[in-house]
Amino acid sequence: MLSNGFELSPADQALIDAQLWVNHPSELGEMVDRIEPGTAIVDVEAMYHVQASDDERDAWVRCGACGKSHNHKRGFVVLLPEGKRGTIGHDCGEKKHALEYRQQLAQFEARLVRQRTLRRILRADELRGSLVAQVNGLQRNGGVRTLGELRHDFGKRFPKLCGELLGAPTGQLLSKVKLRDAEAERARRTRLDRKLTDLAKLREVSRDKAGVDERLLAELVASNDRDTSKAPIWRYEMRPLDSYYGVPFITKMGRLDDRLASLRRRANHCLDEFAGRQSASFDDKQLHEGLQDFVRIVREALRLHQEIRDALLFLDPANISRIITFTSRTPKRREVVGTYAYEDGVFRHLGRGTALDLRIPIPSLSDAPLIEMYFGVTGERVALRAAAE
Ligand SMILES: [Zn+2]
Repeated sequence: MLSNGFELSPADQALIDAQLWVNHPSELGEMVDRIEPGTAIVDVEAMYHVQASDDERDAWVRCGACGKSHNHKRGFVVLLPEGKRGTIGHDCGEKKHALEYRQQLAQFEARLVRQRTLRRILRADELRGSLVAQVNGLQRNGGVRTLGELRHDFGKRFPKLCGELLGAPTGQLLSKVKLRDAEAERARRTRLDRKLTDLAKLREVSRDKAGVDERLLAELVASNDRDTSKAPIWRYEMRPLDSYYGVPFITKMGRLDDRLASLRRRANHCLDEFAGRQSASFDDKQLHEGLQDFVRIVREALRLHQEIRDALLFLDPANISRIITFTSRTPKRREVVGTYAYEDGVFRHLGRGTALDLRIPIPSLSDAPLIEMYFGVTGERVALRAAAE
């Protein structure tokens, strides 16, 4: 039973205790030498995976389907009529020897999945107190609190700058650049040329004759045709001028209090859907989903750690200098965003005189307990290790 009263049905309890994975079939008793084609496979009882290299073939397993000894590293232990047992190599029985046990295999796989999920739910239940403690620790962490308060004050004292930085959510500081639009000017010349040709036709004159073009052009100018203008055409482009780091300080720390409170609430209530109920009333998908709730909270706590660490980079004096350089780049920008200075850790709006001390105690955050929890309930460390091998 879980600490919250989630009770395993007798079948699920038996499933949790069942040894569905073995290192070697001999752990489950004697195996028949040969499984003749056409033999009824009553059930698939377990999977074996011998931890032996290709050089250690003596440790490999004999296969009842192909009858070869030391032939497979991975396979199944199957229950045969009259309570006997035999081994079938992983890809051997069904593919090569036409043993009909696809349905039994599917049932076995379903048992594996449910067993794994149930075991992970039990593990998550054991870890729940520790998760709540982690989240509480984050909420009580003095450095984290100060960081959240600092972001709050930053937005309040320097709203224009804050808005400008919020407009650069990737950290790229863009600036509007005025450029001569050569293409538009070329198109204008082409249009004018066409108009002169049309007008020449209308007036039944040849543009090749001296003075004709000038006369036709004067006529278009007199009619206020805009294509006769020689003024430059400008276009504006947003160009990255610089970038700043510690973006999460601006984008993520603004609602740090709320996020921590919400995370804490969720941590306190995770696995609640199982409370006081019996496992048999949950199908595999529902069990998995209930477990995912726990996983999501752990993942979010880890993400929050990362964001807090990233946010601290914002306060680096070199970073603040870059931001000041950016804001003071043009008179227009200075007018819109304001002028700032940074001295002895204090950031100051020169026009309004508002100031903020950006030096805070660095919060100490350790990911290790959360990572352990994460792997404990997802088993992903095993997957990672398998991938590395
Ligand atoms: Zn075989």
